[in-house]
Amino acid sequence: MKIPTCLAALLLALSPTAPASVPVSTPAAKAVPAAEAGPVPAPTWSWPLDPRPAVLRTFDPPAKPWLSGHRGVDLEAASDGAALLAPSAGRVSFVGVVVDRPVLTIDHGNGLRSSFEPVASALTVGSAVAEGDVVGQVQPGHCGRAPPCLHWGVRRGDEYVNPLAFVMDLRPSVLLPPLETNMRG
Ligand SMILES: [Zn+2]
Repeated sequence: MKIPTCLAALLLALSPTAPASVPVSTPAAKAVPAAEAGPVPAPTWSWPLDPRPAVLRTFDPPAKPWLSGHRGVDLEAASDGAALLAPSAGRVSFVGVVVDRPVLTIDHGNGLRSSFEPVASALTVGSAVAEGDVVGQVQPGHCGRAPPCLHWGVRRGDEYVNPLAFVMDLRPSVLLPPLETNMRG
């Protein structure tokens, strides 16, 4: 019976301002399923190119962060030097060369950031942009000799998400019939 008393005395000695009650639950108990991390948003942004571009390469995020993949989409540009339009309002958070690629990043708030490359831009970090503003010019290089193209990546926090979800309705709205119904054809 003396051990608990000693422990209590020790605890009191170690924490002279100990609170009257100690919370039982801890933040570590919070477990968020991965499926909840990225709900598909409703499309509320505009395309960063005009006219509406063809998608030359889709979003193909790697299964693991260190694997290769395609962390964005490639959009066909009308020409080299085509105007890049801000898909949503925000503020320039980066403009410069990453390795050998000229990159422009816009912070849209709410943890969302768009990055575009290869793009030449006269804007500087901190510049405020409105949706539809011309923020740069598409440069050659990302799609090789294929049509001029713009790479657009979107991050939510540190996670890459599909940029098309912000400009197209990717939410499932129609239940496809079972495969069997197509087997007669
Ligand atoms: Zn790309």
